[in-house]
Amino acid sequence: MGPPGSGKGTQAGDIGERHGVPAISTGDIFRANVDADTPLGHLAREYIEAGEYVPDSVTIDMLRDRVDQPDCEQGFVLDGYPRTIAQVGALDELLTSTRHELRAVLVLEVDRDELVDRLVRRAATEGRTDDSEDVIRRRLELYADETDPLLSEYDSRGVLVRLDGSGTRAEVAERVAEALAVRA
Ligand code: ADP
Repeated sequence: MGPPGSGKGTQAGDIGERHGVPAISTGDIFRANVDADTPLGHLAREYIEAGEYVPDSVTIDMLRDRVDQPDCEQGFVLDGYPRTIAQVGALDELLTSTRHELRAVLVLEVDRDELVDRLVRRAATEGRTDDSEDVIRRRLELYADETDPLLSEYDSRGVLVRLDGSGTRAEVAERVAEALAVRA
């Protein structure tokens, strides 16, 4: 978990590679569907472009389909899911039915100025349609408003690890690896 620009996609990909499991980014799946003009893409597009969350029912079904794929049998890393308490509940059910256990919930913390800097830089290179200034502001605000209950829930389960997400990719990767090593 982490706000937009915290580097969670990058770190999730690196964790997946290191552990030989897929990194599943709900944002990437939505964007691929928008680009391919699928029915799911049609549903998701207006939310993504406004910086709002895609409705839980849509997101949860999509995640379930993805985790049912054979490459997830040995485990998986989630990037950008869950973002609501309903998604937490759905993930619990999914993990029980697929006999997986939640090993850790890592939260990347980065201060707001650095986030905005990174997102503005990314906007210049990647051309994501939701990286315009007002949509960035809305995504940051939504994360700040919606995430606390999830952090409290996972903290009470003893699986939450807050990490400093500032600095280089390698520096953050080292903190992530240390956090995961103590939870092996
Ligand atoms: P960021 O964290 O920078 O916003 P993501 O690629 O993770 O980037 O998500 C992009 C957009 O995809 C979100 O703003 C939202 O519209 C949608 N999205 C991704 N994951 C979820 C989710 N778990 N629940 C609802 N909407 C989601």
